[in-house]
Amino acid sequence: MVVLFFLGFWLTCIAALWLWKKSLFIATWREPYFADTPVLIESDDWGPGGDFHAERLKQLLGMLSQHKDSVNRSAILTADMVLAVPDVAKIDATGQYHRRMLDKDFPTIYAALQLGIQQDTLVPQLHGMEHLNGKAFAELCQQQDPRLSTARSSIDWWDWEKLDSPLQGHYVDGRHLPTQAISAEDAQSLVANAMNYFTGMFGYPSLSTVAPCYLWNDDIEQSWQQQNIIAIQTAGYRCTGRDQTGHYFQDPPLIRVGNTNRFEQTYLVRNVMYEPVDGKNTPNSAFAEAEIAYRQALPVSISTHRYNYTRSAEECQQAIAGLDQLLTQISVDLPNIRFLASPELGEFLQHQTDNIRNRFNQRLWPTLKLARIYRKIGAFLYRLYYRHKKLALIGYFTGLFIPAWLICKTSS
Ligand SMILES: [Zn+2]
Repeated sequence: MVVLFFLGFWLTCIAALWLWKKSLFIATWREPYFADTPVLIESDDWGPGGDFHAERLKQLLGMLSQHKDSVNRSAILTADMVLAVPDVAKIDATGQYHRRMLDKDFPTIYAALQLGIQQDTLVPQLHGMEHLNGKAFAELCQQQDPRLSTARSSIDWWDWEKLDSPLQGHYVDGRHLPTQAISAEDAQSLVANAMNYFTGMFGYPSLSTVAPCYLWNDDIEQSWQQQNIIAIQTAGYRCTGRDQTGHYFQDPPLIRVGNTNRFEQTYLVRNVMYEPVDGKNTPNSAFAEAEIAYRQALPVSISTHRYNYTRSAEECQQAIAGLDQLLTQISVDLPNIRFLASPELGEFLQHQTDNIRNRFNQRLWPTLKLARIYRKIGAFLYRLYYRHKKLALIGYFTGLFIPAWLICKTSS
């Protein structure tokens, strides 16, 4: 009698929730759900740098090669590549923008990247032609703007991360706030040029990309589409510019893995922060985020920028040791993990490919398994629970959390 009462009550609640939140439920249900857990390591800003970067990168990749997934593939770094830095002396002399290229002018780091590709511990992905706006940079140089004094006084190599933050955007002009988006024509030629260089350097075009400083707009997405880019890496939102006070303007403010834009490109989302040099994340906090992603049958996408590994030797050692610990914990505690690079996940989501292919060294791996119905229901409930506070409260209030909890616990 009591059981029947509760069943009737819960079914009425579910019917009411359906009427209220139908479109949310349908959109959430249509997202991808994974039986295998893809584990991605996204690392922005690799590119021109001091020769010691090559040594640091080799240490990092050596550690990754020790970790194996359920098909015996090594952990793999998706290295978000910056292809050039400004040639400051030449810009000073001519007043025009000139570049120093990764492959020709920084052969040591370029060779280390190539080695990682061959060993299947690194896949390059286009970040930007450079990590700044070239035209704006050349004009500031001519005006002897004090914001470029470090760049102009460096002889051999210079770190763009030392530029004022608004000047680090690539697809915007950040000389004055609010930032100005570059024109559609400039975007087209910049992206085409970058893709040309990228393909020349790495032997295959970049199928996916991530914009420097997460700043891009529709024109940039269209330019990417013209270069056959099928997937866009995000932090769960898109920023189109920065306002008068430097605040990022989000549009759209919320992106889920597998969402597509109007150019049929698939969005990917970073959901685990491991940036230890910032002092905000630890291996444990990153693992807690990875576990939440796993419960929701989502890919685990770890964000860990180059600067964690290219500052002091001590910071680098700690960052590598922490990532090692994080990957060990993920391998031990999460079942059926699959190490993947971002363009591979993008291709899978677009075409449900029969194999996972590393386009840069031609190695093939088995395809990914998607979640079956029972696991999918549990993960769907977790997604509602983690994302929508009101729904979680209603679950507690009506007692619906009891059957939901049972499904979640027995399905993952
Ligand atoms: Zn960057």
